[in-house]
Amino acid sequence: MRVLITGGSGFIGSHLVDHLIDTTDADIIVLDDFSTGKRSNIEHIKSDRLTVREGDIRDESTVRDVVEGADAIYHLAAAVGVKKIIDDPLDSLRTNLSGTENVLKAAENDKTPTFIASSSEVYGKTKDVPFDEEEDRVLGPTASLRWSYATAKAADESMAFGYYREYDLPVVVARFFNIVGPRQTGQYGMVIPTFIDQALSGEPLTVYGDGTQTRSFTHVRDAVSIVYELLQTEEAYGDVYNIGTPEPISINELARRVIEITGSDSEITHIPFEQAYKKDFEEPLHREPDVTKLKKTIGRIPETDLNGILT
Ligand code: NAD
Repeated sequence: MRVLITGGSGFIGSHLVDHLIDTTDADIIVLDDFSTGKRSNIEHIKSDRLTVREGDIRDESTVRDVVEGADAIYHLAAAVGVKKIIDDPLDSLRTNLSGTENVLKAAENDKTPTFIASSSEVYGKTKDVPFDEEEDRVLGPTASLRWSYATAKAADESMAFGYYREYDLPVVVARFFNIVGPRQTGQYGMVIPTFIDQALSGEPLTVYGDGTQTRSFTHVRDAVSIVYELLQTEEAYGDVYNIGTPEPISINELARRVIEITGSDSEITHIPFEQAYKKDFEEPLHREPDVTKLKKTIGRIPETDLNGILT
């Protein structure tokens, strides 16, 4: 068995590599351009079952080359991170669209089962929580600060289902809800690693807005084992799944818990969203997954609670 993981040196991808090395006999190829991923995320893996190829998902021939001979594909490579996306929205839009199209096109040749990583951001301005997969998405030019990312992910999903319907390509899509854990850095604006860095260095924890917005944090190890299982499950083909922990927490409470767990003397400060991002926009107030379909399909949902995530 040969498995391709695009974005395999990134945060989630590198945990998926670990999971496959530990629980399967598969040979693994990682395709990554190391833009946000790091070699150090997979350096600890000494197995000759792992091959790393530096390359760009936007390059069709590179993608064709690595897809050839693969028995399964996990497509995780994408332009991600708040800062990267708001600095150049159109570039991230192009990368995420063309990368996914290249993967699906190449996978179609041998009908290689393909997992596509999407995001809770496709729910846009949807206000009713929890979000279930059948809900109408409310995107549009002012959907959120990360409109280009949300739009690309929504289009990636549609493209994946198009390949499923028109070419019988076995695809599974998952919408990740704030995945967190070891190897995630605060460099691209992720809240937990940022708070932990601030708490450990005694700086104030910077909460954007009034901090009453809620998010559902999900441990990366839960996420990758579920992703792996979904692509093994034929019933999941042609469908989309929320992957998240249905236990939302406010950002204020999260800041307090980080201070408590790290034993830090840091204070909590609030800064307006507009000041933090230097752009005008609306953040979704609440984000919480409905995981009924996931539970029904594979019989489980992410299980690590926030204490398990933070410690
Ligand atoms: P990450 O930045 O750590 O991983 C992305 C990987 O893709 C990196 O290794 C990066 O170097 C690689 N990459 C980027 N552009 C590339 C290109 N043009 N060619 C080849 N490789 C490229 O981020 P992550 O958090 O591990 O995200 C993985 C996937 O999960 C992404 O598709 C992301 O949109 C999705 N996702 C993540 C979260 C989360 O909470 N972390 C939430 C929703 C969706």
